[in-house]
Amino acid sequence: MRLSRFFMPILKENPKEAEIVSHRLMLRAGMIRQQSAGIYSWLPLGKRVLDKVNAIIREEQDRSGANEILMPTIQSADLWMESGRYNDYGKEMLRIRDRQERPMLFGPTNEEMVTDIFRGYVKSYKNLPLNLYHIQWKFRDEVRPRFGTMRSREFLMKDAYSFDLTREGAIHSYNKMFAAYLRTFHRLGLRAIPMRADTGPIGGNHSHEFIIFADTGESEVFCHKDFVHFDIPAADTDFDDVAGLQSIFDRWTSVYAATSEMHDAAAFDAIPEGDRLSARGIEVGHIFYFGTKYSEPMGAKVLGPDGKEHIVHMGSYGIGPTRLVPAIIEASHDETGIIWPASVAPFDAVLINMKPGDAACDSTCDRLYAALRAAGLDPLLDDTDDRAGAKFATADLIGVPVQVIAGPRSAANGEVELKDRRTGARETLTLEAAINKLTSAR
Ligand code: ATP
Ligand code: MG
Repeated sequence: MRLSRFFMPILKENPKEAEIVSHRLMLRAGMIRQQSAGIYSWLPLGKRVLDKVNAIIREEQDRSGANEILMPTIQSADLWMESGRYNDYGKEMLRIRDRQERPMLFGPTNEEMVTDIFRGYVKSYKNLPLNLYHIQWKFRDEVRPRFGTMRSREFLMKDAYSFDLTREGAIHSYNKMFAAYLRTFHRLGLRAIPMRADTGPIGGNHSHEFIIFADTGESEVFCHKDFVHFDIPAADTDFDDVAGLQSIFDRWTSVYAATSEMHDAAAFDAIPEGDRLSARGIEVGHIFYFGTKYSEPMGAKVLGPDGKEHIVHMGSYGIGPTRLVPAIIEASHDETGIIWPASVAPFDAVLINMKPGDAACDSTCDRLYAALRAAGLDPLLDDTDDRAGAKFATADLIGVPVQVIAGPRSAANGEVELKDRRTGARETLTLEAAINKLTSAR
């Protein structure tokens, strides 16, 4: 992409409405635009990052054996009357009427709808286990939408739903998502810690919120320091290995971790003082086993091996991509801007032409641009007439991992300068060496 043709409305001033750094940087870098309270458009730079986040989430859901579907945003109220939630949900639900005055709603979540899909087709235990997920917009009329897309009213959610014959089967399905989430957040450059969450009337300990540390997080969290060193499940993890997945779950739940709602001060104080970690955190995912809460009232049952009907056991598993983008920024930025992990960076490298019109600069940049694209990389070429200082500031702000700087003097010598956005380390290389380095790192 050439910057001269890329719609990236950078703001020079700090937007007044932004209270936290991620919101400020997303507005300044032209990633998002607020359309009304808690409702945002994603502009090209933001959309690129969001797509990469979604792609990683999707790959890890698929790896675990889940099936992607796409359910609508608008739902009929009928299903919610069946489950009993239509009246319980309260003001967070956006209720709508169609031209026939039929009650509809903008889905805040999809348990009812996915249960309806399930009961329409699945009749035998032989078709279980099943996990259906989608990545779709949700609407919750939050009392206080704030912090940009961190807590918005319209937001994207990956929500998965598992169906099993028995509770034991459902626990294995839960463990699959548990391991998939550890891998997902790791690939997004985050260390997310599963913390016990309230299971309400369902009981048991199969509800976890995945929390990342950030000073601006809305939750207060307490955990053991050991989490920082726990291993992430490998890419070749066998998701059908019941004992193997159980041991991953057991390891990651072996030491204390809780948000303030579930905090047990006595248990926390029993940890040696030097091993205690109390901080603020952001909830980026939530997994929950809820048994027959929806399958029972909605009649989702299958024939078991015993020839009898069994109500299926379900769980639901959410991740918020539009919250993850600012969460990644909260975890990775400096005073000059965003520092994207390579896995979600909007571009692989930014090529800074210091003097467009200078023959050596232009031809160096053109060669670099073509070579990187030929190698399957996605470079952004700053071919604008901005002054050098503004170009550097923009490159730092948008946080692309590598900057390649072509100035008139170095370009005339067949050289460019590489700058690592995270470390600030600079090195001068010949054009060939720079191309080799960038394309072999892939
Ligand atoms: P919170 O406690 O932050 O309000 P929640 O517990 O209501 O979230 P869940 O129903 O567990 O949220 O939703 C699953 C995931 O969806 C959350 O972990 C989060 O990543 C994302 N999410 C939920 N609400 C919002 C929101 N208002 N804006 C952006 N993302 C959200
Ligand atoms: Mg939650």
